[in-house]
Amino acid sequence: MKTLIVGGVAGGMSAATRLRRLDEQAEIVVFERGQYVSFANCGLPYYVGGLIENRSELLLQTPESLTSRFRLDVRINNEVTSIDRAARTVTVRNTLTGAFSTETYDRLILAAGASARIARAGLTTSTLRTVDDVDYIESVLSATPDDATAVVIGAGFIGLEAVENLVHRGVHVTLVQRNLQLFTPLDPEMAAPLTALLRDRGVDVRVGTTVLGASASGLGLELSDGTTVPADLVIDASGVSPDTSLAEQAGLRIGATGGVWVDSSQRTSDPFIYAVGDGVEKTDAVSGDPLLVTMAGLANRHGRAAADSIAGQSEPAAPALGTSILGLFGVTISLTGWSEKRLVAAGRAHRIAHTHPGSHAGYYPGSESMSMKLLIDPVTDAILGAQIVGGSGVDKRMDVIVTAMAGGLTASALTRLELAYAPQFSSAKDPVNQLGYVADNLRTGTSRNIQWHELAAARAAGAVLVDVRNPGEFEAGTVDGAINVPLDDLRARLGDLPNAPLIVHCQVGQRGHTAARILAQHGFDVRNLDGGYRTWLAGASLTPTRTAPERILA
Ligand code: FAD
Repeated sequence: MKTLIVGGVAGGMSAATRLRRLDEQAEIVVFERGQYVSFANCGLPYYVGGLIENRSELLLQTPESLTSRFRLDVRINNEVTSIDRAARTVTVRNTLTGAFSTETYDRLILAAGASARIARAGLTTSTLRTVDDVDYIESVLSATPDDATAVVIGAGFIGLEAVENLVHRGVHVTLVQRNLQLFTPLDPEMAAPLTALLRDRGVDVRVGTTVLGASASGLGLELSDGTTVPADLVIDASGVSPDTSLAEQAGLRIGATGGVWVDSSQRTSDPFIYAVGDGVEKTDAVSGDPLLVTMAGLANRHGRAAADSIAGQSEPAAPALGTSILGLFGVTISLTGWSEKRLVAAGRAHRIAHTHPGSHAGYYPGSESMSMKLLIDPVTDAILGAQIVGGSGVDKRMDVIVTAMAGGLTASALTRLELAYAPQFSSAKDPVNQLGYVADNLRTGTSRNIQWHELAAARAAGAVLVDVRNPGEFEAGTVDGAINVPLDDLRARLGDLPNAPLIVHCQVGQRGHTAARILAQHGFDVRNLDGGYRTWLAGASLTPTRTAPERILA
């Protein structure tokens, strides 16, 4: 059995090495058009930032090491230019000599990845995707050692990682983001703190802005906000799309999302051709619909699944949640599944829970705050998605939630997870348990909440807002027009409250919950402002031009 693999990095190399472990006799040829295989693309930004000091650490394997350990025939500088499905051959161009050759296959795996979406006429930009890219970036920065300037286009994963690492290098960075929100996979109130975080680090953040082109002097960039910014270096991180060129040329089915269509074994519409990685459509774990996700874990997992299928050990490749994580100046940002924005756009009913727990017991030194958001199906109580932004412990909580989702646990079942606890690691009620308690209270009707973006409409309809924090907190800042009845005075002051629907709020939602329970048991129509003042403030800090999502209830 002869298997050819197109692309020698995450998906391609996972497939190649797995196949070898399963089949010692297989003939396996890997074509890589670049000069490096199996390089650490996820590590590239940290080499730019100097955190990874040696370029050689990015190069995890060489063709020689892969040949000696896995007996792979790895051909770098070889680009597959076309597929003849009838003859089961590929045409290969040697990128150094220009010579073409033909290679036969029994099975073919496409692992060509994604390509940068936008070519910008008249601008010298770099992407941050390959070792060649970081060599170029390094050459520009070395040539301008003092006060180097850079513009990063796009505030997604790679753009934000580029910004952080350029700042570490002492570069003056302008971040240009077309959207009004940074890091658009998050919901707006969860992403809101990122702008201040970047500005505190000296980054010139321009949201709602695009790059028009090079300035007349040629030394900077003209932006759509009418300004010109200096740029020794321009990194275009405005997005990628699946590289489907070979698949299209070969007449393979392309899915609705624009990625190569595959079945649950990673087989394309041609049973002799498999496809894995960023170029390929995944199945959404929440909805079962097609989904594009460009993450390394899935590329590796699906590369392995393709090899399993070729070796006759087929297990359906599990669907994708799109779990991801990002570090930005000490803040961790992580998400999985569906966002509120996406649920609203799809017209899917949902419940929401926001919490702001500490990473571990507050009395033990070093606890750091995090903001959590859970999206829940109101009928089945299934977890639809989660977002967490904060300090230490975010990664652990996200991985617990993702595991719960993969295991089919409901939101309320998070209360029952017996998670490892000692005060330096967690709280006796871990943040994930706490999120479960909020979800469970919503499920049983023990509490009702209202979202930050629903508050104005509810008040316009006659609801009265009661801030149940202490007077000091109230005076330091509250929602305009709220009345202050501290939680500990609430029972004594029930008679002062108006005969109207009430919305209570505290700082993060916990005292508000207790207040709402007291009031509900005294016959008041009451809801708790979800996530408290902190979530409301994050939402309110957004520009007024952004429209808040409208919630769909069951
Ligand atoms: P790739 O790894 O991109 O490999 C595709 C290869 O195919 C390329 O080397 C290309 O040259 C080659 N190729 C394409 N066409 C041909 C052809 N016709 N002939 C021969 N060769 C061809 N993901 C995470 O989960 N976490 C992270 O922290 C993370 N950080 C990232 C940081 C950066 C800077 C980048 C660029 C990506 C990051 N990713 C991260 C995404 C992750 O790297 C990708 O999801 C993963 O590499 C996709 O694997 P792949 O095999 O589909 O494509």
